Amino acid sequence: MKYVILVPDGMSGVPLKELNDRTCMEVAVTPNMDRIAYMGVVGMVTNVPKGMTPASDVANLSILGYDPKKYYCGRGPLEAANLSVEIGESDVAFRFNTITEADDKMVDYSAGHITTEEARVLVEELQEELGDDKFSFYAGTSYRNLLLAHCSSPADAEDLALVKCFPPHDILDQSISKHLPKAAELVKIMKRSKEILSGHDVNNVRLDLGQNPANMIWLWGQGRKIDIPLFKDAYGLTGGIISAVDLLKGLGHILGLEVAEVPGATGYYDTNYEGKAEAALDILQRKDMVFIHVEAPDESGHNGDIKEKIKAIESFDSKITSRILKEFSENDQKDHRVLILPDHPTPVKKRTHTADPVPFAMAGKDIEPDDVMVFNERAARAGSMKINNGWELMGKMLEI
Ligand SMILES: [Zn+2]
Repeated sequence: MKYVILVPDGMSGVPLKELNDRTCMEVAVTPNMDRIAYMGVVGMVTNVPKGMTPASDVANLSILGYDPKKYYCGRGPLEAANLSVEIGESDVAFRFNTITEADDKMVDYSAGHITTEEARVLVEELQEELGDDKFSFYAGTSYRNLLLAHCSSPADAEDLALVKCFPPHDILDQSISKHLPKAAELVKIMKRSKEILSGHDVNNVRLDLGQNPANMIWLWGQGRKIDIPLFKDAYGLTGGIISAVDLLKGLGHILGLEVAEVPGATGYYDTNYEGKAEAALDILQRKDMVFIHVEAPDESGHNGDIKEKIKAIESFDSKITSRILKEFSENDQKDHRVLILPDHPTPVKKRTHTADPVPFAMAGKDIEPDDVMVFNERAARAGSMKINNGWELMGKMLEI
């Protein structure tokens, strides 16, 4: 049996006045997602356990069948795994964004989606100026980078891991100084980064081009080394993951999944949808399960862009979902199951993630259809399944 998990990040949302009280999912034309709903079961699933932050890493851990309450480690360690950076017992791994700051405001959590090449130059400069036996800077992808803090003991590392840090996309247009972490050494690094990056050549060019400069770093999502069973040991299956996002690739590495590199997979609107679908089918030749993640619906939610969100959902449907379904039907491949769901909602109205349940649809071998014919939030609420612990959905998909 082959298993495909389709994850359009942040796809679900809430009804919008601009869309006559419909959601982006309801308005988007998605015949292939609807076909999964028509052929299978539909329901709602809670991927973010009560009390936890509705972050993509939490929600995707659930989708992959791991209880976030037990295994969540912060996104820093996931990004470290993706960069093959070892985390020591006394280390804390922080995710850091290159951000745009102006007049003490968080203007842009991504510094205009700065290119990986530009960010790398800036991160190397930070390592040169601020790197020492306490802090190491590592360049990642675009605005998503890594800082390792080397503490003097595991107990100190635990303290630093517990310091409250705000996700930068949650404090857009809000005061920087009011949201700094309550840890002097972290604040010092962030303030020093501003001095170093503000007048940097890379940023001068960006300003000349009318782009947002990466004039500060923002530390968050920290965590320590993680202890989690491999997917093969937890579920007895081999698998692979396709994502442009470092934290999901890092999760793949940690779980022992094959992590595909897809040319042109950007984590943004312009990602290579077709390439991701082909890479998934390639992985399925060798593995039991493939997990395909696309970030674009989430990004458009963060940007409050209804049009782009609908477009991202439709692109996912026409270029990925359709390709997977076509492959199975053309080859008369009956031994398969397909699951589609967003990790969490990213309503354009809120421009950030919420912890609300998300719709899912699952179809394939031995799955008896219910009477839901389309795939969206409203239809799913009327569906036959309601799953409170998102991480249990994987077991259900494998067993039915
Ligand atoms: Zn997400």
